[in-house]
Amino acid sequence: MVFGSGAPISNDIGAEIRPVKAGYPAALPQIMVRDLLGRAVPPGKTCEDLGVSFFTAEAVASIGRAFASNAIPVSKIITVIGKDGKRNMVSARIGTPVQDIFSALGIVVQDKDRLIVGGPMTGLAVFSESYPVLADTDSVMVQDHAGITPVSDYPCINCGECVRICPAKIPVNMLVRYLETGRYEEAADLYDLYCCIECGLCSYVCVSRMPVFQYIRLGKYELSRRQAAEASHD
Ligand code: SF4
Ligand code: SF4
Repeated sequence: MVFGSGAPISNDIGAEIRPVKAGYPAALPQIMVRDLLGRAVPPGKTCEDLGVSFFTAEAVASIGRAFASNAIPVSKIITVIGKDGKRNMVSARIGTPVQDIFSALGIVVQDKDRLIVGGPMTGLAVFSESYPVLADTDSVMVQDHAGITPVSDYPCINCGECVRICPAKIPVNMLVRYLETGRYEEAADLYDLYCCIECGLCSYVCVSRMPVFQYIRLGKYELSRRQAAEASHD
């Protein structure tokens, strides 16, 4: 499967190549399952639960190399995005501290700059430049502290921007009310917490700068923790 445009193509390895729309979040797994396979991932389920797995082209190439050479791959291609937004494709050994990559590229990280592993929309901020490249690290970016928009404790003003942009059609304005007060079961039962595909767009557009996406992840995490605790007492 590749990104691009045009009709499905069959090739000599028997693979069918399908185009994916340009633009975020068209390449998120749940969206591709919907758009390419015409199936919906049920709430709380994964693509794997439907028997669908996604591999990057790099992962497929690495598996091929591993079989051909009888050796496990120890390096990885990652995208490094500097403070100026410039993208660099870098090959790094797994375990390399990101500071070594920044040094090689001439990227200077200053106090209060933010390091994000995993992309600007859904990535996680990490606290140290010693953070290592892992087998599943695809990108690392540095955000200049001057350009960071802080989250706020300003309340939801019910503008509806998050609802309009949500690809899962979740009433995010209602969901967030339950999440920010820790009412996670009701958030799941009444306002579709488990329908969220974790694209991060609601946080991106929130005019009140609420950490909506972080509330969502925390809510799911807390529910899974409670379910695990209940299961261990059964
Ligand atoms: S992260 Fe926000 S916008 Fe994206 S699917 Fe979940 S609730 Fe909707
Ligand atoms: S975008 Fe933010 S302020 Fe607007 S309805 Fe959604 S949560 Fe509320």
